[in-house]
Amino acid sequence: MALVVQKFGGTSVADLDRIRHVAGRIARTQREGHRVVVVVSAMAGETNRLLTLAREAARVPDERESDALVSTGEQVTAALTALALHDQGVPARSFLGHQVRIETDSAFGRARIVRVDAERLLAAVAGGAVAVVAGFQGVDGEGSITTLGRGGSDTSAVALAAALKADVCEIYTDVDGVYTSDPRIVPRARKLARVAYDEMLELASLGAKVLQIRSVEFAKRYRVPIHVRSSFNDNEGTWVVEEESAMEQVSVAGVAHDRDQAKLTVQRVPDRPGVAARLFGPIARAGIVVDMIIQNASADGTTDLTFTVPRGDYDKARALVEGSARDIGAQGIAGQLDVAKVSIVGVGMRTHAGIAARMFDVLSSEGINIQMISTSEIKISVIIDEKYTELAVRTLHDAFIRT
Ligand code: ADP
Ligand code: ASP
Ligand code: MG
Repeated sequence: MALVVQKFGGTSVADLDRIRHVAGRIARTQREGHRVVVVVSAMAGETNRLLTLAREAARVPDERESDALVSTGEQVTAALTALALHDQGVPARSFLGHQVRIETDSAFGRARIVRVDAERLLAAVAGGAVAVVAGFQGVDGEGSITTLGRGGSDTSAVALAAALKADVCEIYTDVDGVYTSDPRIVPRARKLARVAYDEMLELASLGAKVLQIRSVEFAKRYRVPIHVRSSFNDNEGTWVVEEESAMEQVSVAGVAHDRDQAKLTVQRVPDRPGVAARLFGPIARAGIVVDMIIQNASADGTTDLTFTVPRGDYDKARALVEGSARDIGAQGIAGQLDVAKVSIVGVGMRTHAGIAARMFDVLSSEGINIQMISTSEIKISVIIDEKYTELAVRTLHDAFIRT
């Protein structure tokens, strides 16, 4: 008898029919003799609808109240799923974040889980019921409702699996598993049977939103095996697990892309110690996450500094940079909103040489100009014009991945 955490994403609980279908699958798992804890997302589109409502109610919605509002989507599906289970003769109880108690910090909209007390869930499943938990939400030390950032139900599920010492955390979604690239962009993408935690961490942070990155961090830290699979069929999905030696034989496991990028260049900054600190300090204090940074010193004693930020933070970052640019004597600022990041990822890159050169070659053969490059041990990312995103992803997939 195993303890299984099953998480169902928005499309899997999009309407009552889908919820009944999900309840059927949960009931089957329980009939097979397992204890089941379920985590549900809001119905597809609901979180966006609630966020729009908040922005209509107030130009700059208060973050605490915004979280109180958007967390309600998951409350609805948790209760509906419990009701659908009752209808199929399965005892079930729904739980909100504070009822479980999933304690987070107070960073509304992007809270981090600090503690999970799973006693009530354990008591519920020990009594033969299915526990259905509202994903995406927690409660801070003051008792305020918090949310975990977009895609956060994945993290709720893995954190619960870790706290419950579950045998597996199943992530049910609208694709059959983790693919070598986003199947919506690359029809030839292939489902991976297994992917290493580190590869999945890179893929998630580089734009493959099939799992929220924090869920993978949790899984890696607490050694939770994740099985990503479809709620629409019974196919075996993808196992996210510890690295195995066979994984090193493949140089590139996946190709990811991220359109949520914008680029800023501070031109001809006097090349002196402290300039970068002056520039990036205010940006960091504003909570803006800077991704790639390139600095190019030229012979005349000035330097160009280029960096990327999430597109939604572009205006704020530009205003801050304009403020500091005057202080540090920069000659100008240039920006571009329509850029994208395309990356190749694989633990095999540690042992295969020449991957970067080949990547650049492949992109140049399509006439795609590379604006920025960043590398780590197991990934290479480039910034390109957004209009070439799909071409770049498909071409790299063709070049590096055996289908
Ligand atoms: P859910 O609502 O179930 O949480 P998401 O929309 O968050 O589902 O994540 C699933 C989506 O992730 C897929 O529909 C797919 O378009 C996208 N995706 C991006 N990259 C990948 C990838 N490498 N493998 C699988 N899916 C991917
Ligand atoms: N409903 C939330 C969102 O859309 C959380 C989730 O689905 O994982 O981001
Ligand atoms: Mg998701």
